[in-house]
Amino acid sequence: MELNICHLYPDILNLYGDRGNIITMKRRLEARGIGVHIDECSIGQPLDIDKYDIFFIGGGQDFEQEVLLRDLAAGKARDIRTAVEENKVFLAICGGYQMLGQYYKTWDGNQLDFIGAINIHTIGAKERMIGNYMYRLTPESSGSIVVGFENHSGKTYLGADVAPLGMVLKGYGNNGEDQTEGARYKNVFATYSHGSLLPKNPVLADFILQTALRYKYGSAEPLSPLDDEIENRAHDYMEERLRKG
Ligand code: GLN
Repeated sequence: MELNICHLYPDILNLYGDRGNIITMKRRLEARGIGVHIDECSIGQPLDIDKYDIFFIGGGQDFEQEVLLRDLAAGKARDIRTAVEENKVFLAICGGYQMLGQYYKTWDGNQLDFIGAINIHTIGAKERMIGNYMYRLTPESSGSIVVGFENHSGKTYLGADVAPLGMVLKGYGNNGEDQTEGARYKNVFATYSHGSLLPKNPVLADFILQTALRYKYGSAEPLSPLDDEIENRAHDYMEERLRKG
């Protein structure tokens, strides 16, 4: 077995160690003897969606998001919409999450029309939502608790056909208003969590890998357990801190 991962815009969208998500997926696959191949695809490079099982998009500020609009419009937006509808697995963080949606109206009134692969939109607020936070994933995404770090001005609102990835226990999440955090649509996992997300949330990491293996190979054996003592300690330390604070 092997999985092919495409890291989209690694040179432009990469905040607060988002790349750590790629490293975690690679390590957790290799530890089980599953092959993994990672390609990077950035501005001006064609995207062959058929080659990949998982697509990763990191976060970026409003400026970086605007820089990518031309490249998306030249073909990648259409390719990404197709890959999402074909049930490919996506993990998208913060700015990358916003970009999968319909549009982002920045706090100073600039409207960025995005990919439209998932039915969400984002409205910028003057006050940023910043801090360590945590949420419980919905049962459809494992039900476990995720700890992370958020820093965004955009408030994201989910359309009727898009489920939240989880419900906020501490912090802001999608918009600081409706307790939702992130989005789950088909095999898209989208979230505001930097930090990075997967190293200290191993249950979610395996859930995403398992989803990709099931997609590719029909049914897949459950992943063999790994020694996650250090990962769980990092997770539990932050969970405890947030519960107390
Ligand atoms: N530009 C977006 C916002 O501020 C995303 C920022 C990020 O990826 N951290 O809402």
